[in-house]
Amino acid sequence: MTGGRHRVRRLHPGFLAASFALAACTDTSSIGIEEEREMGLAVAEQAAREMPLLQDEPVVRFVRELGAHIVERADTTGRAYEFRVIDSEMANAFAIPGGFIFVNRGILERAESASELAGVLAHEIGHVVERHGLEQMAKAQNTNTIVSLVYVLLGRAPGGAEQVALQVAGSAWMAKHSREAEREADRVAVVYLARAGLDPRGMPQFFQRLLNEDRASPNELLAWFSTHPVTEDRITDTEAMIAQLPSDAVERAAADLPQFTQMRRRLASLPAPPADPRTLP
Ligand SMILES: [Zn+2]
Repeated sequence: MTGGRHRVRRLHPGFLAASFALAACTDTSSIGIEEEREMGLAVAEQAAREMPLLQDEPVVRFVRELGAHIVERADTTGRAYEFRVIDSEMANAFAIPGGFIFVNRGILERAESASELAGVLAHEIGHVVERHGLEQMAKAQNTNTIVSLVYVLLGRAPGGAEQVALQVAGSAWMAKHSREAEREADRVAVVYLARAGLDPRGMPQFFQRLLNEDRASPNELLAWFSTHPVTEDRITDTEAMIAQLPSDAVERAAADLPQFTQMRRRLASLPAPPADPRTLP
């Protein structure tokens, strides 16, 4: 699924188009779904180039199918989501506007059930649906419009400056979401999970697992803490959100799937991730 397209070193034309269109305005309500995708695609392609992607089709397929299953019941706009697995043992995941979701192998390895992994995916899908980060990304791309314009006017081939521009756009997007955005992503995620027939309790369970790991041995592999701080409060809040769902929807939901176990077995048979995974700023 990660064909040569993502290896091509070029500035996506959509990036320029989006920048020009947005030059006068960063009101995100005026950004259409297509435009949002073009903006996100430029950043997603950059991320895909910078990150060591896991190329193992069966593992990636499971993540893609689990993600698509949640999306079907979460997003009615017709966004074309793409799910990629980064071959890094760090516990991290992020979403780029437009529907580009990256989840690290470290999340797949720490989750103990399909519903725990689904919780992370649903949270990231929530950021996309609620358009968190779109405004920051639009502003970052606007700032770099001048750089892009200069190059177009000079008739030079896109070079290092464009790469830098994209990195700035990327890092602006990667910046922490507000606590409110995090809460909102959690809130919509529990609803998506219940609709998808996946046990939303997997979400606070996974938060607890990360928190326990951090307490047992604080380590730099728990990158999710920096972008999605996990606290006892967040666990309690998520549990309270779940308590408001119809109880039969929660009771009937699947905590695990046999395909998850197969995916884990497959993952365990693969070579270890690169020792020094590059990460975005
Ligand atoms: Zn988040």
